[in-house]
Amino acid sequence: MIKKTFKRGVHPHIPGGGKKATRDLPIEDYVSDSVVIHMAMNIGAPATPCVKKGDPVKIGQVIGTPNGFMSVPVHASVSGEVTAVEDIPYLGTGNVKAVFIKNDFLNTWEDHRPLGDVEQVDPSLIIPAIRDAGITGMGGASFPTHVKLTFPEGSSCDTILVNGAECETHLTADHRLMIEESRRIVNGLRAVMRAVNVPKAIIGIEDNKPEAISAMQEAVSDREGISVQPLKTKYPQGGEKQLIQALTGRQVPAGKLPIDCHVVVLNVGTCAAIADAVTEGKPLVSRLTTVTGCVNTPKNLRVPIGTRVEDMIGACDGFSEEPGKIFFGGAMTGIAIPNISTPTAKSTNGIVALNEKDARSLDETACIRCGRCVAACPIGLNPYKIKVAADASDFETAEKLHVMDCMLCGSCAYVCPARRWLTPSFRFAKDKITAERKAKAAKAAAEKGGANQ
Ligand code: SF4
Ligand code: SF4
Repeated sequence: MIKKTFKRGVHPHIPGGGKKATRDLPIEDYVSDSVVIHMAMNIGAPATPCVKKGDPVKIGQVIGTPNGFMSVPVHASVSGEVTAVEDIPYLGTGNVKAVFIKNDFLNTWEDHRPLGDVEQVDPSLIIPAIRDAGITGMGGASFPTHVKLTFPEGSSCDTILVNGAECETHLTADHRLMIEESRRIVNGLRAVMRAVNVPKAIIGIEDNKPEAISAMQEAVSDREGISVQPLKTKYPQGGEKQLIQALTGRQVPAGKLPIDCHVVVLNVGTCAAIADAVTEGKPLVSRLTTVTGCVNTPKNLRVPIGTRVEDMIGACDGFSEEPGKIFFGGAMTGIAIPNISTPTAKSTNGIVALNEKDARSLDETACIRCGRCVAACPIGLNPYKIKVAADASDFETAEKLHVMDCMLCGSCAYVCPARRWLTPSFRFAKDKITAERKAKAAKAAAEKGGANQ
């Protein structure tokens, strides 16, 4: 079969061993004695806690209510007792409210009502069920899925694309999910196809995962409208725009969304969560995460959302060496965590611990203006110029250089001989510009309100 791909991209050589450590390891379940579930699990407004210290909770019980359309409920991931509701610092986003739960290990579930078979259920019930289940993009982006599936007026979708590329270094959670739970993924995908009345779907998988390709081909063989497309192994093949280009030949213009090219992209994990919401009536309370790098026993763990990193490292028999850096996500797009008490979230697809030597190999030096970052950028940006602007807090220039189109894929940082910390600067600039835009919009709305009084 022809293997499709996109233009440019890189082939990363990986510090700390890459995917080999966990790609053949079956999914294992792990449950810790307490969890910390924060309320900012999605892009958009955080949820508001609706439980207090001392309350008993069941698995799947709503503990955070959504605030508006761009928000989702947050559910308890273990049964037990709420021990605190307080602010915690979370990954550079400032303080967020979090609910601490002590696990009673009784595994008591809140009542849940399945909608039924994905091929029989009333399609109009599916998107509300996805929202009520608190489902957000599980590939790392955390975009509320019900919002993605509610197309803007005048838009249309002709194909659902499913991202099984898992091109990030080190991560194998999606790979194992496709091998072990392929029918769950297909059930969720069929539910989406029926919900939005789109008859065609393509699942894209990199060709370094032949077992996953076979498992998914088998799972779709008796289902309507779904095909599996092998993709060349290249980074960032799983980037939304790169996947769309590879699978459909369409290019998403700068500043536009996939729906402007008549497609929607979902991650395989998101599809599996949708299947649970429809066929079992269960909300999103657990997460499959690869734990690897300098740990004694790397694993693909399924854990309750809110499990702390230190507990997961313990489940992997501890560190094998002193860690120099620990990331959520892979080495290309991962975010360094400040300490091992940090709890996981719905978007945590990997925990990668690099030893001090590998971590030092990431320390930055001065730019030598070689231009390699420009050649590597899959969307044609000028990373070194954006970095200069972002580091000088010159966000106007960064915006003119299209930093908001940057998908933080890390290809530029990977090829940079000076190991410049490009993506953290871009993430910072994007956050600042987004905050400024929101403040301007709020001010304009307030002024308009005042003028109308
Ligand atoms: S500038 Fe952004 S989109 Fe381009 S390679 Fe760097 S991180 Fe990726
Ligand atoms: S690749 Fe690195 S050193 Fe070369 S121009 Fe870009 S930022 Fe500078």
